[in-house]
Amino acid sequence: MNALSAPKNLTRNVLIGMAAGVLVASVFYYTSGFISENISLVVEKYVFNLGGQIFKNLLMLVVVPLVFFSLVSGISSLSNMVKLGSIATKTIGLYLFTTAIAVSLALFFGWVFNLSGFEGTVDAYVPPSGDSSLYGTVLRIFPNNIFGAFIENNMLGIVFISILFGIALNLTDDLTDGLSKSFERLNTVFLKIVLLIMSFAPIGVFCLMGSYVMAKGLNIFGDLAQYVLLLIFVLAFHSLFTYSLILKSFANLSPIVFYRKMRNVALFAFSTSSSAATIPVTLKTVTDDLGVKKDVSSFVVPVGATINMDGTAIMQGLATMFIASTVGIDLSLVQYGQIVLLAIVTSIGTAAVPSAGTVTLALILGSLGLPLDAIGLILAVDRILDMMRTAVNVCGDAAVSCIVAKSENELDLSIFNSK
Ligand code: ASP
Repeated sequence: MNALSAPKNLTRNVLIGMAAGVLVASVFYYTSGFISENISLVVEKYVFNLGGQIFKNLLMLVVVPLVFFSLVSGISSLSNMVKLGSIATKTIGLYLFTTAIAVSLALFFGWVFNLSGFEGTVDAYVPPSGDSSLYGTVLRIFPNNIFGAFIENNMLGIVFISILFGIALNLTDDLTDGLSKSFERLNTVFLKIVLLIMSFAPIGVFCLMGSYVMAKGLNIFGDLAQYVLLLIFVLAFHSLFTYSLILKSFANLSPIVFYRKMRNVALFAFSTSSSAATIPVTLKTVTDDLGVKKDVSSFVVPVGATINMDGTAIMQGLATMFIASTVGIDLSLVQYGQIVLLAIVTSIGTAAVPSAGTVTLALILGSLGLPLDAIGLILAVDRILDMMRTAVNVCGDAAVSCIVAKSENELDLSIFNSK
């Protein structure tokens, strides 16, 4: 075992942590009559919420430096810059393609199963903050202040700055006495920090799951059974069928191997509900277990976490149909087409953090003239669905990383196929 190998039995321990969190929190939640309310509140706040938040903070803490150093060291070691253009074009093309399939599947299955609305009260809805429109998203790629982009966790801006810096470093390596080597070393240090944090993952997910259950108990599906079940079905279908198909047909890679190695990443995404917080784990798995070379993974993974959200697009497609039906509006074929386009653009602009997709759903509803308040209908079940769609989002990022790497001859098949 070297300094950069993953903690032993991580998947098993994370699963145990999740189950224990659900169990312990359920005991508190369902025996509230027997346990003093003060004790429950203290456990909820100082064990589950605090522990969960610390774990997520620690993951987020390394995202920016990890993305920066891995992208800079990946690009500074590229032998020619044309390759960067080709990687970027394929990556963005594939991301848009998979998202288009995702939302189309959602609408298709919603239509086949006749997804219908729900009669219920509408909770208060908090309007989105920040500019998630296409205009705002494109503008965020080009920040006017390097430090501002880093401080605001502006991932697309950070990717742009890192690419610019990496290119300049690459072109001046002779003049800087091999400065790029130092970036590679720093990258190794940050990878180690990720591993140290991951060794606390079982405790972290224990707290996260506990805090979810403490808040609402196990009644996570509420009264929205048809919407919830259909959404889970389409998420499962897309992640098992679409990704398998593209892995096999575009890159001749075994989906079974892919899924076996993605277990940990999916679990992290599920428990943090954040593609951004999962970046460190995704990067590590894609590079070390799936064999994608660093110059590809360091670009494809952070960009994917930011702009590729197939699970989110599926939710937005189905939620729009559900809300339209609830308020008694029949969607036309043109409006279905609009939903596909809007979901693609919106998922690009959705931040990779918990519940962001529900907030940007407002953009789609607004464009179709549907009432924004109706988002309140699905808020009750959104917690658990956010966890599931985030797992799908990161699987998409990893699948595209493998396909792009294979097409660029940057995939080490012996690592991909290894045990
Ligand atoms: N939580 C999702 C993610 O981080 C975004 C969303 O759909 O809310 O990928």
